[in-house]
Amino acid sequence: MNIILLGPPGAGKGTQAKMLVDGHNMIQLSTGDMLRAAKTSGTKMGNKVAAVMDAGNLVTDEIVIGLISEQLDSDAAGGFIFDGFPRTLAQADALGALLASKGTNLDHVIEMQVDDAALVSRITARSTCGSCEEGYNDVSKPIPLNRTCVKCGGTEFKRRADDNENSLKTRLMAYYKETSPLIGYYYAKEMLTSVDGLAEIDEVQSSISNVLV
Ligand code: AMP
Repeated sequence: MNIILLGPPGAGKGTQAKMLVDGHNMIQLSTGDMLRAAKTSGTKMGNKVAAVMDAGNLVTDEIVIGLISEQLDSDAAGGFIFDGFPRTLAQADALGALLASKGTNLDHVIEMQVDDAALVSRITARSTCGSCEEGYNDVSKPIPLNRTCVKCGGTEFKRRADDNENSLKTRLMAYYKETSPLIGYYYAKEMLTSVDGLAEIDEVQSSISNVLV
């Protein structure tokens, strides 16, 4: 089963995708994670997109479609979870064509609905373990007092360069201008289901799992 998790920055797409990977044997394809990895390892493409990402703007369709295309031959028994892709109508069209060329298709698009005020407070509070990427949140899941990761014991924690109020405004604007039209696009294709992204993490996961059965 191939699904898209659609929603603004901070809606919880990454958290839910990771839970689906564990529970449903699916592969998470996050263009944001791929781009951050390219940025950190200093590839030519990573250097090219670094400033665009830090400012909160979208990188070109050509780059992200290329990244996704490279991954679609992976052996995904349970299917793919597209997280943060597509973000434009051109990317949505390209994804449909790429999947068709592999003899497969998209099964569901799950829109995670969250109001803007919640997004700002969620994003400015979040951090991750520098070793295992376990997520933390200053309010709902603070870093332990001994500053040791609960999952791997790591002691380095990091915040994303674009998780600040200025970049967030640009990211939200990009979401409303470029990405939110995909809600209508997939609704018209009868693929869209909306879930309450503000519910508890486990409740959101079970709403998503209910769509997948
Ligand atoms: P994310 O981790 O999904 O929030 O993505 C972080 C940043 O990577 C975004 O703000 C964009 O600069 C870039 N990015 C990730 N996915 C895409 C995409 N599908 N199209 C364009 N830019 C993207």
